[in-house]
Amino acid sequence: MKKISIVVPAHNEEKNIAALVSELYKLFSNLAYDFECIFVDDGSKDNTLNEIKIQTEIHPEVHYVELARNFGKDQALQAGIQMATGDAVITMDADLQHPPQLITEMVKYWEQDYDVVYTYREKTNAHAKTYQKVSSKLFYKGLNMLSDIQLEDGIADFRLLDKKVVQQLRQLNEYEIFFRGMVKWVGFRQIGIPYNPAERLSGEASYSFFKLFKLAINSIMSFSVKPLYMVTGVGIVFSVGSLLYIPYIIISYLLHINVSGWASIIATIAFFGGLQLFVLGIIGMYLGKLFMQAKQRPSFIIRSANFIKTDYDLVKL
Ligand code: UDP
Ligand code: MG
Repeated sequence: MKKISIVVPAHNEEKNIAALVSELYKLFSNLAYDFECIFVDDGSKDNTLNEIKIQTEIHPEVHYVELARNFGKDQALQAGIQMATGDAVITMDADLQHPPQLITEMVKYWEQDYDVVYTYREKTNAHAKTYQKVSSKLFYKGLNMLSDIQLEDGIADFRLLDKKVVQQLRQLNEYEIFFRGMVKWVGFRQIGIPYNPAERLSGEASYSFFKLFKLAINSIMSFSVKPLYMVTGVGIVFSVGSLLYIPYIIISYLLHINVSGWASIIATIAFFGGLQLFVLGIIGMYLGKLFMQAKQRPSFIIRSANFIKTDYDLVKL
C-alpha cells in the first residue's frame, strides 16, 4: 500500500493538535493508503510539543520534529518534508483552517497522475480582517507583477506533493524559503482546487501586518531580479529626459531667457536624491540576501525528533 505523509508546522497550537490527529485518523480509515503524520514544532512557547508527544505515544504513525527555536512556517515546512517517507506529502496548517476532507479530493487528482495538487481560497476569507484582505490582494498583485512566477490570489500552504516533487524541493538550498513560490517554480503537473477556509479552531493567527509586508518584499526578491530591471528602466528614462532638457537650458541661457533658479534646483536635488536612495535600497536588499545565502547557514536547526529512519541523512541528533 502506498503511503501519504502529512506534514504540519505548529507554532503555539496546543489546543489543536489532538483535534487534528483525530480528524486525520477518521479520514484515513476511509482511504486505501497508509499514512504518517509529522508535526514540526516551530519553537512553540505553550504546551504544543507535549501535546504532540502525547499523540506520538498513542499513535505509532505520528512523529515529531522539534526545531531549536521559532524559524518560521516555511522553514518548518522545509524541515518536515526532509523527514517525510511517504509516496506523497500533504502539507497543512495545524489550526484546522485547512479542511481535512479535501485530502480525499487531492488524492484523487494524485491518482490521475498530477504531481502537485494545491489549494486556493475560493472567496475572500470571510474570517479575515479588512487589512488582511487588502494586504493579501496587494501581496499577490505585487508578486505576480514583479516576479517571474504567477501565484493565484489566496493560494494556501495546503497541498499534495508527489515524492518526485518533494525530492526536488529538498534540494533547493535556499536560506530564505518561500515555499509557495518554490512549489510553483519546480513545475511538474500541477492543478489547483478551491477551498473555503474554516475558522481557526483555537488560538490566534500569528501573522501581523508588518510580518506580511516583510514576507512580500522577501518573496518578490527571492524570486526575481525584475525590480533591478525596473530601476534600470527608470534610470534610462531620466537620463534621456535630461539629455533633452540640457540643450534647452543652454539655448535659453544663450538667448538670455530667464532660467529659473533656487526652487527648481532644490526640488530636483531632493527628487533625485530620494530616487537614488530608493534604488540603492533595492540594490542593498539584494546584496543582503546574497550575504545571508553566502554564509551558508542552515535555514532551520533540529533540537530533537522521534524518527528511527528517514530519508534525511543530514540530521545529526
Ligand atoms: N506557524 C509556524 N511558525 C510560525 C507561524 C505559524 O509553524 O512562526 C504555523 C501555525 O502553527 C499554523 C500555520 O503555520 O499551523 C499557519 O499559521 P497561522 O494560522 O498563524 O496563519 P494563517 O492562518 O493566517 O495563514
Ligand atoms: Mg491559520
